[in-house]
Amino acid sequence: MQEITTLLRQEPLTENALLRLLEIRDEKDLELLFDTADRLTRRIFGRGVYLRGIIEISNICRRNCDYCGIRAATSGLIRYRMQPEAILQTVKTIRKAGIRTVVLQSGEDPWYTPELIENLIRAIKTKHRMAITLSLGEYPFAVYRRWREAGADRYLLKFESSDRDLYQKLHPDCDFDERWRCLRDIRRAGYQLGSGFMTGLPGQSTEMLVRDLLALAKLEPDMAGIGPFIPHPDTPLCNAAAGNPLQTLKVLALARLILKNTHLPTTTALETLEHDSRIRGLHAGANVIMPNFTPENFKRLYTIYPHKAGSDSSAESAMKTIKAQIRAAGKYIRKGYGHSLKEPAAKS
Ligand code: SF4
Repeated sequence: MQEITTLLRQEPLTENALLRLLEIRDEKDLELLFDTADRLTRRIFGRGVYLRGIIEISNICRRNCDYCGIRAATSGLIRYRMQPEAILQTVKTIRKAGIRTVVLQSGEDPWYTPELIENLIRAIKTKHRMAITLSLGEYPFAVYRRWREAGADRYLLKFESSDRDLYQKLHPDCDFDERWRCLRDIRRAGYQLGSGFMTGLPGQSTEMLVRDLLALAKLEPDMAGIGPFIPHPDTPLCNAAAGNPLQTLKVLALARLILKNTHLPTTTALETLEHDSRIRGLHAGANVIMPNFTPENFKRLYTIYPHKAGSDSSAESAMKTIKAQIRAAGKYIRKGYGHSLKEPAAKS
């Protein structure tokens, strides 16, 4: 316990300290780690939790990431693509639920041209005055800049693993350097940057996880999503073991300690692995939840991993669960856009 207290006081946390903290198993030590992260979260954000409403606009993707259930090679999956009018209608529902950020998430689907997305961004801004997060994948700088100029506020692109070899192995048709080029360009285009990685990936060591945390620290994202790997039966990784919820919570707590005022969601993947993990996430450094507002007939088809929490219930009932979990964690829903707390100058 004494050793853990000393490690937690290190500023900044070194690679060795992170490794040691990731390996703790003792209940009291774990409690101390989560408590330290929660106290820092409350000092920065209070007890308020921001909600960001997600719409999964298309499950069509040209890529073949090894872990993903909507990869191009998945056959037998009914594919869908939401039309702009349907997306706007769903944005209205999110706004009515009192949420001020919409996240447009999709596979890399070229049907959504830069112009179409630009028009959609302008329509959302004009009609609903929402903060907009895009999570649409890899594009050239000119496209990122175009969408930013149209009014998009944030862009979410996870690096998934900072280990070049592991990344390349899991993403056979992506390029490690290209992913990091995108992350730099997203920042250069003036977005609030969201990134993150997965825990428990096949072939991922604890040392790699530590380096993922250090890569995040270097990137200084405005938001970081950290979720466990969950095997999908129709992918090359169907027989791999799922990530570990406790390990994910430890990584989340350490992310809070090193990233300070970065927004950190407690992810749906974590909740999928273990019911009510959202509450544990809110006690381990998270300050954001992203309720899914994808229309029900589409939501069950956005199967990046199986049995996604909330995928078989309506947005209203999922919101009820989330509200109860926030209350159970002793926190409350914070109104407002929930923009980045980081100085724009620090991001250039
Ligand atoms: S992880 Fe994203 S880019 Fe990769 S196959 Fe799935 S939807 Fe496409």
